[in-house]
Amino acid sequence: MDITDNIGKVQKRIRLACERCGRQPEEVRLIAVTKTHPVETVRKALAAGITAIAENKVQEAEVKIPELRGLYREFHFIGHLQSNKIKKLLALEPVLIHSLDSLSTASKLNEFLSSRNRVQEILVQINTSGEDSKSGIAPMNAENFLREIDELENLRVTGLMTIGLFSSEEEPVRNCFRLLKTMLDQFARIQWKNIKMENLSMGMTNDFEIAIEEGANLLRIGSAIFGPRLADRS
Ligand SMILES: *Cc1c(COP(=O)(O)O)cnc(C)c1O
Repeated sequence: MDITDNIGKVQKRIRLACERCGRQPEEVRLIAVTKTHPVETVRKALAAGITAIAENKVQEAEVKIPELRGLYREFHFIGHLQSNKIKKLLALEPVLIHSLDSLSTASKLNEFLSSRNRVQEILVQINTSGEDSKSGIAPMNAENFLREIDELENLRVTGLMTIGLFSSEEEPVRNCFRLLKTMLDQFARIQWKNIKMENLSMGMTNDFEIAIEEGANLLRIGSAIFGPRLADRS
């Protein structure tokens, strides 16, 4: 398996999907999901042109990310954030936290940021598939959730994130992404204090082309770049 080759193939598929739906490839940013893969492997991806990397566990990130400093341009956090890990995560200076879905974590995050005089860009995770197993705010609760978050002055929500339904059928997956785009457009019409609705983080290895067609501008791709994930470390 050649990572450079894989990245080239993914970039080509992104270009082709953009062409099919009349979008510019520059509108769509590729984030390489590095979870379970060792630092040496991540270095290869960075040498091959990857600029943004993402981890989903603070414990794993706090070991790997400092070793990669200077090699990446952006570190993204895409996993479930526990409030007892906030301090450790923020020490890694994530450019974007994709996965906020709890008011209590949000308020702890805000408190910590405020004590350090920092602001943090975040996305709100929405459970568009309705599966109980998935994290995220239920679509019907999203506007109220955002109204609460908008009061937290050290948080900057810049959009929404979702994980599509795991399905071999295309239509139900597409519906998840379409719903997220509809929500983004709807929320973008509201006058917020601290919220700017512009990012749609959706699309993984098995569904990123559908996500592009439905308006994604942040793709989170792991296996298509690095191959199958290694045994979970936690
Ligand atoms: C692991 C993970 C990805 C990447 O998944 P692949 O199917 O390997 O591309 C994307 N988003 C989140 C939130 C993840 O945890």
